Amino acid sequence: MVVCRMINTNIFSDVYSPCMSVSEEALILKSLGELSKRFSERAGRVDREGLFPEDNLRELSDNGYLGAFIPRPYGFGLGASLYVEVVKELAKACASTAWLYVVHCAAAQSLYACGSDEQRERYLRRAASGKLMGLAATEVATGSGISGMETRAELRGDVYVLNGAKSFITAAHGAHIFLVVARMANSDAPFPKNLSAFIVERGAKGFSAGQRFEPMGMRGIGWGELVLRECEVPRENVISDGVRTINSGGHMGMLGASAISFGLAEAALEVCRRHVKERVVGGQALGHREGVKAMLSEMGSSVEAMRQVLRFGVDAFTRDSYPDLLKVKGFITETSLRVLDLALRVTGAHGYSRLLPLERYYRDARAPLLHFQTLETGRNVLGSILQT
Ligand SMILES: Cc1cc2nc3c(=O)[nH]c(=O)nc-3n(C[C@H](O)[C@H](O)[C@H](O)COP(=O)(O)OP(=O)(O)OC[C@H]3O[C@@H](n4cnc5c(N)ncnc54)[C@H](O)[C@@H]3O)c2cc1C
Repeated sequence: MVVCRMINTNIFSDVYSPCMSVSEEALILKSLGELSKRFSERAGRVDREGLFPEDNLRELSDNGYLGAFIPRPYGFGLGASLYVEVVKELAKACASTAWLYVVHCAAAQSLYACGSDEQRERYLRRAASGKLMGLAATEVATGSGISGMETRAELRGDVYVLNGAKSFITAAHGAHIFLVVARMANSDAPFPKNLSAFIVERGAKGFSAGQRFEPMGMRGIGWGELVLRECEVPRENVISDGVRTINSGGHMGMLGASAISFGLAEAALEVCRRHVKERVVGGQALGHREGVKAMLSEMGSSVEAMRQVLRFGVDAFTRDSYPDLLKVKGFITETSLRVLDLALRVTGAHGYSRLLPLERYYRDARAPLLHFQTLETGRNVLGSILQT
């Protein structure tokens, strides 16, 4: 089978079948569990040193995970429910790795949905076998709204020449293949028809990674600026509809961001359940105190609600329902912050310090609110849709 030859033997080629059974999915998750143990051990260092998790990504790639959710025949084309499980598991081990994984899957999905057959053949096979992908739309001047984007693309002979800078880009310092959105120079077309996407490889003439940003959480995501100075992109690397390109992968990004937020909240609950049993204060386990029980109870109920909403998210993704995904992402990303806040209260100084990983989870959980549609702009859109 083509997909089995594409990536050397790994868990996916061993168990792959077009209709994967529950036991096959369990095998994939078991194998991920083994990788995640190592990711978990490295997560503290990734966070403290702002280290790009090369080793984790290499192991994911060697084991076929970078192609798992890229549609067939380029990747393994596995389904949304397994995607959520994989992302959740990664988030519990190392949120930076999970975030990079989600952005990679979303970018690949964009390219699959909007690229030509040649572009898919050329770049998606490489993405599936380990070349990390990134998406670059945001600019400092435009932020949440991309209509005023300043990066320009001009056709000169056989190449498009790009000039501009993209900010706050995940894996600016790390990914190999980017989908960059730019405004077509000399185009009279109104927004959004004046925007196109370009497949830009690290190493292209005129391409460089600029300023590094210091993120609050998910500190290993290689976050930074992409600088395009007379950057030459082959003419065949253009995808005409830039906004559709970004949006096509956005659903995968929204579902993935929700899975990360859920994973962090579930992990925090597990830490707290252990902590309140093990910590003895005044001769009594912390968990015997009424206020602590109440906080734990709220955390448990919230995590259960998030789990159910995430299931609805898988369904919404399968139905391609943007409004429902907005509901899911809004609810889960915000509820996750509430759960993490409670986790810090339950654990006091232990949680506030680095004795427990909770302060890291708390910082990590902020990022999903901001990318793949911010909480506020998502609410604006949903609020409008609900009035139609
Ligand atoms: C961790 C992380 C990774 C990212 N990775 C990428 C990436 O890979 N590629 C990429 O292109 N971008 C990326 N981004 C950028 C992200 O998409 C932007 O941060 C986001 O679009 C918001 O833009 P801004 O931060 O400039 O906020 P601003 O536009 O300055 O807005 C500030 C705040 O105001 C709110 N706001 C804005 N407009 C409204 C409104 N009309 N009503 C109510 N509230 C509003 C926003 O929700 C936000 O909270 C990333 C961001 C983060 C935090």
